[in-house]
Amino acid sequence: MSLSKREAFFKNEPPTAKFDPTTRDKLDHKMDKEKENGHPETSGKAPKELDGYVGFANLPNQVYRKSVKRGFEFTLMVVGQSGLGKSTLINTLFLTDLYSADYPGPSYRIKKTVQVETTQVLLKEGGVQLRLTVVDTPGFGDAVDNSNCWQPVTDYIDSKYEEYLNAESRVNRKTMPDNRVHCCLYFITPSGHGLKPLDVEFMKRLHDKVNIIPMIAKADTMTPDECREFKKTILNEIAQHKIKIYEFPECDDEEENKLQKKLKDRVPFAVVGSNTLVSVGGKTVRARQYPWGIVEVENLEHNDFLALRNMLVRTHLHDLKDVTNNVHYENYRYNKLASVATKGKEKAVGSKELNLETAEDEDSGEKYYSVFFSLHKYGI
Ligand code: GDP
Repeated sequence: MSLSKREAFFKNEPPTAKFDPTTRDKLDHKMDKEKENGHPETSGKAPKELDGYVGFANLPNQVYRKSVKRGFEFTLMVVGQSGLGKSTLINTLFLTDLYSADYPGPSYRIKKTVQVETTQVLLKEGGVQLRLTVVDTPGFGDAVDNSNCWQPVTDYIDSKYEEYLNAESRVNRKTMPDNRVHCCLYFITPSGHGLKPLDVEFMKRLHDKVNIIPMIAKADTMTPDECREFKKTILNEIAQHKIKIYEFPECDDEEENKLQKKLKDRVPFAVVGSNTLVSVGGKTVRARQYPWGIVEVENLEHNDFLALRNMLVRTHLHDLKDVTNNVHYENYRYNKLASVATKGKEKAVGSKELNLETAEDEDSGEKYYSVFFSLHKYGI
């Protein structure tokens, strides 16, 4: 007897985390093969080269224009104990005074418990707009007892997925702001002794929800040898605890790949932040000045700041968003809808009739049918 769609769905094991970089590699491999053959693997037909000009070669330009007009949005979360230089690094990353004396970093404002604070800034570069949301977590790891201090962070990430899921299920889906957290910079104390239990616990709890990029804070406090050893220890511990950090994928261009490999090998990025401008050899640069010398922020011989910024903003911002949407959000959505569907099934068995619920959006008064949406999807 063949299974109905719904039975087939319930027969499935609950989903496990799908953040599996090898899956992405396989997909990339398939696409490469298609590129080599010059046709999709399944069709078996080579594309027909046109004699004249129809105009669809211009399609990428249409997408380009539309994207520039719409602008981009990105949400970056920074987590780590206070005083590790998170606010300074954010200012340095985006060459902006997101935090200043009038509006100091969250560590200075909120202290007692772990809180989640968001700050938004609209940045413009060469006509391209980026709506950047920085999510800070002041108080993280600062208490005597830090058990469950990751909970507000997990709740925040989930709440943004929930918001997005609800927005998707609305009747009117014209405006769907994407406030999901696309990347989490996790600051590790430059102790030279590897990860602390809190670091391991945090990353293990969050790695299926968000792209984690580990960073060594205040890298100027270590010698290059100490830093190298520290990185090795951290990577070993990450592997030992089976923590899945964000893997920077290969890009299409071979030359670019070679350059990027060198940057990728610097993970976990050991960074230095500074808001002070110093004159070095007639050039004004962001740096930290000490009696014994100057640490330049944008000098790859001094620290990995430039590698981090290039990978995060220039080359992989879109991939971070893709992985958030296709892997982490998809996992959330699957689990959520599967649980709603299971509840719906139990209800149906009890009452023989489904009572579809509607919710009302507080802002617009618009009704949305998330339960209906999920049950309907699985044929219930
Ligand atoms: P937050 O609490 O994590 O946001 O840390 P802040 O950005 O407020 O920085 C705390 C202190 O560390 C400040 O005095 C900064 O000047 C200093 N600081 C920030 N980045 C660095 C760095 O890369 N190296 C060193 N040595 N100090 C830093």
